[in-house]
Amino acid sequence: MYILTACMNNDKMFTITRNTTKDQLLLLRNTSKFTCPQCEAPLRLKIGKVVTPHFAHIVLTQCLTSFSERETPTHLIGKQHLAEFFTRVGCKVSVEAYLPKISQRPDLLVRNKRNTFAIEFQCSVIPIDDIEKRNVGYLRIKIPSIWLLRTPPTIPMNAPGISVIKLSKFIQAFMKNLPSSGNTIITYDPTTAKFIYISQLIHISGTSFLAKIRALSIEQQTFPFAQIKILTKEEREDYWNLFQYKRLKYLQNRIHSSPFGVKDRLLKLCYENKIRPEDLPLHIGFPIQDSQVIQAHLVEWQLALISALRKLHIQVNDITETWIESFILMQCKFTDLVKAKAVIKCYCHFLHMLDYNSVNPINSIVVSESKLLELFEEVIVANRCEN
Ligand SMILES: [Zn+2]
Repeated sequence: MYILTACMNNDKMFTITRNTTKDQLLLLRNTSKFTCPQCEAPLRLKIGKVVTPHFAHIVLTQCLTSFSERETPTHLIGKQHLAEFFTRVGCKVSVEAYLPKISQRPDLLVRNKRNTFAIEFQCSVIPIDDIEKRNVGYLRIKIPSIWLLRTPPTIPMNAPGISVIKLSKFIQAFMKNLPSSGNTIITYDPTTAKFIYISQLIHISGTSFLAKIRALSIEQQTFPFAQIKILTKEEREDYWNLFQYKRLKYLQNRIHSSPFGVKDRLLKLCYENKIRPEDLPLHIGFPIQDSQVIQAHLVEWQLALISALRKLHIQVNDITETWIESFILMQCKFTDLVKAKAVIKCYCHFLHMLDYNSVNPINSIVVSESKLLELFEEVIVANRCEN
């Protein structure tokens, strides 16, 4: 367990920063006594060549369990960078401050004129429940928490722009809906000292997302964190084209790669509707914010929904909350019922805007691509799925 802050000579707190020189540390090691601010056990000051200088418990104690994570050298460096950053932007910073009321120790506790925030720099994968538990703790003492994820290695940092990326369920848990950039994950990469924004996340299928990647050096960052600008018209078109390319490829491959053979729901629905998967109209498989909460591909659940409406002779305007809920429970694998309902509602709203007549055969309804692009821009720009 590596930490940066210790109690020095039973008196005051001492934090190792990047400005502390090796000579200073060597002198301190010979002249001072360091103890753990939390369990009061003695600490050793370790000054090595490879790992950032840090403190470690001489004897392993219970105290370890209340620490935020098994800390790594990257985590230590990240913490130091972030401590310097918050100091530069005018905050009072305590590194690894212990909060006795909730027995928690955020990586940083930062205070600006108005508020105190707990900052967690997360490098390792931990159970999502643990994150929630810690947030509940912070909430109890009315300290908002900000989680910064270490930039995942799969993010193309050197090729900013719009790309297809994979995000594990763990990383997805850090998604926040921001006013200008939609579903966004703010990450920090200590190696390059850059904040990497993964923004405008739109789910394709499985763990694949479309995203806009932007880098911001730590010198340019502000607090509250800078926001990503709304997509330009060109970027929105890039998004649309990349999305359609992926959708079509998925549909073309589906026949060959179906894991379910003749029981495949998508293929069965296509057969019933007398249409080949790759010929499905573009309004089936339309991107919807947060659709990752439903596990099937967009095309599949949207086709299932439209087919169900057609079979039951229900028009979009007549869809009720109860109908949506039973559709989800019977036809979808989902991770979050409330969000899944919002996703289906959003799609119904989209159909409503198309004046969709759900009684007509599926392939008889043609919506122009320009109209769809317009609605897509509305979804992505206005971030509107609230109703
Ligand atoms: Zn301790």
